[in-house]
Amino acid sequence: MIRINENYLKLQSSYLFSEIAKRISAFEKANPDKEIIKLGIGDVTMALPDACITAFHRAVDEMADEKSFRGYGPEQGYSFLRDKIAASDFQARGADISSDEIFVSDGGKCDTGNFQEIFATDIKIAISDPVYPVYLDTNVMAGRTGNFKNGRYENVVYLEGTRENGFIPDLPQEPVDLICLCFPNNPTGAVVTKEILRNWVEFARENKAIILYDTAYEAFIRDEFLPRSIYEIEGAREVAVEFRSFSKNAGFTGTRCAYTVVPKTCMAYDSEGGKHSLHALWNRRHATKFNGVSYPVQRAAEAVYSEEGKVQVKELIDYYMKNAALIRKEVAELGLECIGGDNSPYIWVDAKMDSWAFFDMLLENAGVVCTPGEGFGQCGRGFIRISAFNSFENVQKAMASIKKNMPHKA
Ligand code: PLP
Repeated sequence: MIRINENYLKLQSSYLFSEIAKRISAFEKANPDKEIIKLGIGDVTMALPDACITAFHRAVDEMADEKSFRGYGPEQGYSFLRDKIAASDFQARGADISSDEIFVSDGGKCDTGNFQEIFATDIKIAISDPVYPVYLDTNVMAGRTGNFKNGRYENVVYLEGTRENGFIPDLPQEPVDLICLCFPNNPTGAVVTKEILRNWVEFARENKAIILYDTAYEAFIRDEFLPRSIYEIEGAREVAVEFRSFSKNAGFTGTRCAYTVVPKTCMAYDSEGGKHSLHALWNRRHATKFNGVSYPVQRAAEAVYSEEGKVQVKELIDYYMKNAALIRKEVAELGLECIGGDNSPYIWVDAKMDSWAFFDMLLENAGVVCTPGEGFGQCGRGFIRISAFNSFENVQKAMASIKKNMPHKA
């Protein structure tokens, strides 16, 4: 009798988005004439930049001709893309990362989820709350956690984001081995300064721990003093792996391209204390289980770094950030406090009531959909996430409807 990996039985059903869908559909049935505007989604809405489309088309045409056709490429990505990533995203900002430390992949989701595979199952993990659920669920699947009890998994050090700490968790009070951090944060939109990030890097160095740093929303950082990469912090090369994606900067959510940086100086240990290079282990894992991102997609991603690509990506980000600024302004006028939206596409609003009750009120009164914060963890209770990924017209309409129909007005 074949048996399953029983760790999967510990997983909580992804109740959040199915419950949202259920409530929307009930509302639609009861109010067939009312328009609904969704500001709950983490997917982009704008088309790919022209520079990417042109490069994409050109590469597809190359595949149609035997002379320029390409079969399997390097599993780690073509050097035309890795070189540009290393030069533009890191070296240009003083971060010492070389192109052979970059692994091109088909998504930050897969990379952040898969990377834990190269660590032992009995290590101590520290994961923030609220959280992008992938870090937690993939560690549950691997058996690194205990059961789910009273709303949390056992054997996890939860790094709590609260109103008091501005959703930037304090350092753990105990030694941990693997630390998952995400800045700009999904769902809260919180960002870290170099000083705070330096504390985390020092903590990791003291504890011989590794930080998995997810910076999928790096392109939304406006404040020039904020770090865009953890490698801007001295000493991070020994203790940090960074995850980036083309999904949110250039709209590649449906095109799929991302990358992970694993410096050759990052080490982890075997049970006898022997040192092992994470780069070598990840290279082995990546080349064994992955056969590379398609050639046209990598050419489209390369175009993000062209002169016109840079301008067009900036225009895309500016567009969403204009939405975010409007949302922040209107939320403040309602008398509600929020964070995020200034260096991130997410606005995290203190609902001052149960987050599902606020969700219902927003839907029923204003026809606007948000995401209840408690879906991202216990610390999200009483908060909602509003996303700036939509057309400006829809955001204007949604905010006008909230202003007119919500009882909250200050
Ligand atoms: N990391 C974070 C924090 C995200 O919010 C998302 C997507 O919403 C991802 C990673 C996934 O990115 P990708 O589309 O590259 O898989």
